[in-house]
Amino acid sequence: KRAEVPKSEHGIDVSLVDERAIKVVRTLTDAGYEAYIVGGAVRDLLLGLRPKDFDVATNATPEQVKALFRRAFIIGRRFRIVHVVFGRGREHEVIEVSTFRAYLDPSAAEQVNGNEKTSKAELAGKSHVVDASGRVLRDNVWGPQIEDAARRDFTINAMYYDPQREIVVDYHGGIKDVKKRLLRMIGDPETRYREDPVRIIRAIRFAAKLGFEIEPKTRGPMHRMAALLDNVPASRMFDEMIKLLQTGHALASLEQLRKEGLHRGVFPILDVVLDEQQRHDGRERFVQLALADTDRRVAEGKPVAPSFMLACLLWHDVLDRWERRQSAGEHPFPALQGAIDEVFDARVGDISGRGKLGADMREIWMMQPRFDKRVGNAPYTLVEQPRFRAGFDFLRLRADAGEVDAELAQWWEAFSQADEHRRRQLIEQAR
Ligand code: ATP
Ligand code: MG
Repeated sequence: KRAEVPKSEHGIDVSLVDERAIKVVRTLTDAGYEAYIVGGAVRDLLLGLRPKDFDVATNATPEQVKALFRRAFIIGRRFRIVHVVFGRGREHEVIEVSTFRAYLDPSAAEQVNGNEKTSKAELAGKSHVVDASGRVLRDNVWGPQIEDAARRDFTINAMYYDPQREIVVDYHGGIKDVKKRLLRMIGDPETRYREDPVRIIRAIRFAAKLGFEIEPKTRGPMHRMAALLDNVPASRMFDEMIKLLQTGHALASLEQLRKEGLHRGVFPILDVVLDEQQRHDGRERFVQLALADTDRRVAEGKPVAPSFMLACLLWHDVLDRWERRQSAGEHPFPALQGAIDEVFDARVGDISGRGKLGADMREIWMMQPRFDKRVGNAPYTLVEQPRFRAGFDFLRLRADAGEVDAELAQWWEAFSQADEHRRRQLIEQAR
């Protein structure tokens, strides 16, 4: 049942809505289409938060949307959407526009094996495509708004906001659930997890980020169905993990994972961090500090580099292997190289397109032993490194965790800011 909720009830402050999102909605409605702000942005607006990005949903097809904007690009295969781009360079902003999608009837879906590119029924626009476990591979069948709402994940993520009329369209009691601070899956949770197991992780992320309870029926099958996550491509799992850590509630997210018993076997990278034993060997403190630091940065609106975060999470694995190799007689630098290679093999795998990220992590780690060398030209060369800041921030975390002397981090802080005369003094003192 469709509810049109007026401003007096939803109370959204329209000034929290990005002007470009309003412009996209207006352009679409002026052209005779339906268009709304949808999903996470509506949820955040209802909570009085300024959304970090805006999605728009419309009954116009991607081609029709593209035709209305100067810079618009159709992207994606699993879900075809349009990116409408405003501005250039660092200031640029993307509004994602998606076409209302038809309700997904699992029994009517067409099953293919993973390798098949496009089936005949799909080409005729008649079918969703699922794999043998029921996981949806492609979902590009257009439908009415009511069906679009039903195929979204949680009630709080399935509302539509018209910024011109200032009404919220709510089919699943999302407004009520926002007020009750409850995360509730639309439809039968087990079926919805089967369609897309990543929803299990999304439930954890939203519960942690919003501080919402997971409604019991939604929570029930989560643990039992987590094995289905094995079928999800590694690259998508990797992206989900990064999102989990960048919500600004990384610590809460990991705690939530642990609470649901999903801290092992879901993310290979997190296994090492969340391992119960690690909690007792004192090294836990470093990861806790790193994540608290990440959360603080997000709260301050500062960027968080995934490479830095991952370098923190995997540091003790690197350290263990490095120490083992040195005890076996290897020289420190090649031993560190070797340890890093091992960690990449064991924890990260070869996820394509991660070349830059991996290189940045490696650089942060390889810089660490160089901080011990405070003689001659070495410090000068090191501060000139383009990634010095990241390497130094990492060193400071290690100092905060009691892993290296606080004096070392202070010295490098001073050295990086000093003039030539003071730098020479500092090198003298360090002898
Ligand atoms: P965030 O603030 O973290 O971006 P969000 O709710 O906007 O949260 P997105 O991943 O950006 O999350 O997705 C946008 C919307 O698309 C969601 O609010 C939801 O309605 C829908 N959606 C996204 N992923 C799924 C999914 N796996 N299954 C069903 N619906 C989904
Ligand atoms: Mg979003």
